[in-house]
Amino acid sequence: MIEQIESIRSEALVAIRGAASSSELEALRVRFLGRKARLPLLLREVRMLSDAERGKVGRAANEARAQIEAEIEARAHALRVSELDERLARERDDLTLPGDPPLAVGAAHVISALTRELEDIFIGLGYSVLEGPEIETVHYNFDALNHSPTHPARDESDTFYIDAETHGGEGARLLLRTHTSPMQIRAMEAHPPPLFVVIPGRVYRPDSDATHTPQFHQLEGLAVGEGITLADLKGTLLAFARAVFGSEREVRLRPHFFPFTEPSVEVDVSCFACSGRGDLADGSRCALCKGEGWLEVLGAGEVDPNVFAAVPDTAANTPGYDPERVQGFAWGMGIERIAMLRYGIPDLRLYFENDVRFLEQLR
Ligand SMILES: [Zn+2]
Repeated sequence: MIEQIESIRSEALVAIRGAASSSELEALRVRFLGRKARLPLLLREVRMLSDAERGKVGRAANEARAQIEAEIEARAHALRVSELDERLARERDDLTLPGDPPLAVGAAHVISALTRELEDIFIGLGYSVLEGPEIETVHYNFDALNHSPTHPARDESDTFYIDAETHGGEGARLLLRTHTSPMQIRAMEAHPPPLFVVIPGRVYRPDSDATHTPQFHQLEGLAVGEGITLADLKGTLLAFARAVFGSEREVRLRPHFFPFTEPSVEVDVSCFACSGRGDLADGSRCALCKGEGWLEVLGAGEVDPNVFAAVPDTAANTPGYDPERVQGFAWGMGIERIAMLRYGIPDLRLYFENDVRFLEQLR
């Protein structure tokens, strides 16, 4: 019997040491230690031996089983390590590499982002944001804004007219709005003074070159109340200029003409590239302001009394816009122009081509 035990033991140890995988090792465990294996069966027969034999055989069988168990444990550990190494090598997992970068995240288009920034500036000054229709009538786009019947902007070549024949009545003729100013009239019709609103939106004119696109964006501003002066306009636009172009900026007003403001001004901001000096530190001429020291940013003025007179008194806007009682100012800025100045963009058309290589630079 001892010989049988020895033979099982040596057979088991050789097999266990040669096991090539964890599953092969598990099969050996069943084969040598399982309920129907030879060694356990032998152990059950030990009690039938004589007293003298029983002790020796029992000890030998127990030692053999313990040794087989220990050998299986050792081999199992070695196999776990080598199998992990093998799997890592096969899957080429280099745990020292950085993780996968997140998928590209989109961002607001530069014009949308700047529009929101401008809205925030004026909301901070107490203005509300309004939007209005892009398809307008001649009445709101020109007549109510004091454009004379012969004003050149009304030309078929300067405005996109729509369905000229079908809408009857000169004031009802439809067009794509050429500016955001029609909303001055619509806002005053709907709300009594005092009124402080900004109106962002798309406008349309039939021009197309590096500095003109058929579609662009404006931000209109309108402030109406009692005792509002040109000084208030200047202070408001100075706050805007400093928020957008830096806290050192100054503004200057130059006389100009617009049909719907009187007096009208063009507004310049001191150049942020040369701090308004016109030349750079190395003595060369500032390219941004072309040596002027000032950048033209928008048109503005005191609201013409004829514009107030064009607002009919309605229940909604009582007490109405009596030019003898209320004054106000208005401005219109091109949002693309503000972005061109701020980011040094040379060609307006870049905004609308949606080339990601361009847009990514302005996130
Ligand atoms: Zn400059």
